[in-house]
Amino acid sequence: MPMEVLARTAERLGLPLSAQQLQQFEEYYHQLIAANRRVSLTSITDYQEVQRRHFGESLAVAAALYRVGVLKPDEGTRVLDLGAGAGFPGLPMRIVHPTLQLTILEATRKKTAFLESLLARLGLEDVTVITGRAEAVAHDPVHREGYDLVLARAVAPLAVLVELALPFLKVGGSLATPKGSRAPQEMTEAGRALALCRGRIVSAEPLPSPALPLTLVLMQKLAPTPAAYPRRPGIPTKRPLR
Ligand code: SAH
Repeated sequence: MPMEVLARTAERLGLPLSAQQLQQFEEYYHQLIAANRRVSLTSITDYQEVQRRHFGESLAVAAALYRVGVLKPDEGTRVLDLGAGAGFPGLPMRIVHPTLQLTILEATRKKTAFLESLLARLGLEDVTVITGRAEAVAHDPVHREGYDLVLARAVAPLAVLVELALPFLKVGGSLATPKGSRAPQEMTEAGRALALCRGRIVSAEPLPSPALPLTLVLMQKLAPTPAAYPRRPGIPTKRPLR
C-alpha cells in the first residue's frame, strides 16, 4: 500500500483516507521530489518523513480545526494558505476535504509554477493559485476580507503574520498557524499587532502532530483591519508592529 505511514496517521487523527486519496498523496510525493531537483521546495525528501512532517502535520491542522468547529466536514469554507511554499498545509487539507474552497498565495513564481502543474496532475483544478506578496494582494478588494480562514506554516513570527493575514479575513474569520517551542513568546510579542489589526488569540493547543511537538495558535478577527495594514512589501518584517 502506498503512503502507509500517512494512512496510519490519518486514521489516528480520525480522518481515514480512501485509496484514491492515498494515490493523490503518492503522486504529490513524486512530483515534489522530481521538482525539488530544479526548485528548492523542501529539505525533507525521505518518503516517510514527507508523510509525517508535510502531509501528516497538515492533516493534524485539519483535525484540530474540525475539533474546535472552525472547519466543518462538507462545508464550503473559503480558505487562504498564505506562503504555502510547496502547498503546506492547505493542499493536503484540500485533498481530505473536497469542498474546501482553497486559494494558495505564494510569492515565489517557481513555487507557484510547481503548484499549478501539480494541481493539474491531481485533478484539483478548482484550487486557485496566486503568485504575489501578501502585502500587495491584501489590498486587492477581491481578496481583502474575502476568507473565512487563513492558514500559514513557517512563514513569519506571529507579530508579522498577524499584519499579513488578518486583512484577508472576514470579520469573525480565523487565522490558524502551527508554532514550535517559541509559541508563548511569539504570542506575547504579537499583542500590539493584534490590537492594531483587530484580532485576538482564541486558543493555543497542542497539535496532534505525528512528528515534532507543535502548538496550533488560533486567532479571530474582531473588526475590520484599518486600511493602512499591511504596510508596503518588506516593512512588516523589517519593522514588526510591537
Ligand atoms: N508553508 C510552507 C512553506 C514555508 S516557507 C511550509 O510550511 O512548508 C515560507 C514561504 O512563504 C516561502 O515559500 C515564501 O516565498 C513565502 N512567503 C514569505 N513571505 C511571503 C509574503 N509576504 N507573501 C507571500 N508569500 C510569502
